[in-house]
Amino acid sequence: MDYVSTRGSAPALDFEGVTLAGLASDGGLYVPREWPRFTQDEIAAMAGLPYAELAAKVMQPFVGDSIAPDRLLELTREAYGRFAHAAVTPLVQLDERHWVLELFHGPTLAFKDVALQLLGLLFEEFLSKRDDHITIVGATSGDTGSAAIDAVAGRAKVDIFMLHPFGRVSDVQRRQMTTVLAPNVHNIAIDGSFDDAQAMVKRMFADTAMTGRFAISAVNSINWARLMAQVVYYFASALQLGAPCRKVAFSVPTGNFGDVFAGYVAAKMGLPVERLIVATNVNDIVARAIASGDYSCGTVVPTAAPSMDIQVSSNFERLLFDAGGRDGAALAAQMTGFEASKAMQLTNAQREGAAALFTSARADAGDMSQAMRWAFEAAGQVLDPHTAIGLHAARAAEGLPADVPVVTLATAHPAKFVDAVERATGVRPPLPARVGDLFEREERFDHLPGDYDAVAAYIAERATPRNG
Ligand SMILES: *Cc1c(COP(=O)(O)O)cnc(C)c1O
Repeated sequence: MDYVSTRGSAPALDFEGVTLAGLASDGGLYVPREWPRFTQDEIAAMAGLPYAELAAKVMQPFVGDSIAPDRLLELTREAYGRFAHAAVTPLVQLDERHWVLELFHGPTLAFKDVALQLLGLLFEEFLSKRDDHITIVGATSGDTGSAAIDAVAGRAKVDIFMLHPFGRVSDVQRRQMTTVLAPNVHNIAIDGSFDDAQAMVKRMFADTAMTGRFAISAVNSINWARLMAQVVYYFASALQLGAPCRKVAFSVPTGNFGDVFAGYVAAKMGLPVERLIVATNVNDIVARAIASGDYSCGTVVPTAAPSMDIQVSSNFERLLFDAGGRDGAALAAQMTGFEASKAMQLTNAQREGAAALFTSARADAGDMSQAMRWAFEAAGQVLDPHTAIGLHAARAAEGLPADVPVVTLATAHPAKFVDAVERATGVRPPLPARVGDLFEREERFDHLPGDYDAVAAYIAERATPRNG
């Protein structure tokens, strides 16, 4: 399987190449040259497989010759063996129509674990083979940082430097990062805001003094391997609900459009998906684009669902490329225009391509609390704010055939957002036992001034240079 850039001019790469590259060199995102497709019989034969086996089956066409099937299965067993539930992503029923797919049983209670636990192993696999080394640099306001750190802690050939704004992440989120004491993990608290930290990371990717010495890499959701790992749970849940004989709809709390795009990929592979409901909070750029074709940035409004507080949905470019006829040169021009004016209009082909599968709905703070209360009162389920937004959109969806079940993806454990949950339901969900001693563990991080040169010098002193 080879991969092409959405902007048409970067070289095609194999799976190993796209995993290590992240972003394409022309600024685009990598997508498979064509979608692999399973027959209905092949999908039916997947029913009942343990999650790790299903994962290896669904991902093998994307991995191609980069990893042998036996080895891929070893990797998925290792990655998903670290989850606290035997089903890895268990499905819970709320009422006759609505289900919740719990994606938060990984080590850091965030759905990002599902993809990042595997990505950490893939990095180690490919870098050991090449005898090379990478330096992951990121900025986090919470969830992504802890999931990325956990995924690479103690792994050979990888160092991670994670910046967070000093005093501005929650105690739980900070401790999930700073209590990981592996020698390849470096937590840096900087004076300033998340945006200041993010700006430093961006500057470092463009700093040739740093990129010349170190193979600096990111683990953000533009990495194809992360998306690929997320396709698996669409198969897992749809199979449980009767696929391929029965269609299933999904409602997905959306930020960067990675998770819901994985649902689109599942549909392209032959999974009978009736609809993908893109759920946003008041930061609704993608909901507007899908409803009206208008993709234009506003300013980010902070909400109780911070992982969905985004201005631009980076993975949306993959949908624009695929739905718009896969014309890299045309999309490159469209994206350049967007980057200059912060607004664009979808083409007719892009709009129609999106409308074939996606609808959208946005939830404000009241809708979110109401959905949380409904789940608690109707089914005894305590949901986090992101999942509650997904459930609101699922329940608001119109025109679905009566026999189609609707699965809302539960993207975070409610204990990570106790205050918002308590306000809506009166319940304070406890941290699960596996992370229950978080507040007794030793913390380690360094506190640096909000100064790029200080951060670059800190990293240069500790990172392992690239080979050659
Ligand atoms: C990252 C995240 C999302 C958004 O996922 P995307 O793939 O960026 O759309 C939603 N909910 C939670 C809890 C997250 O951490």
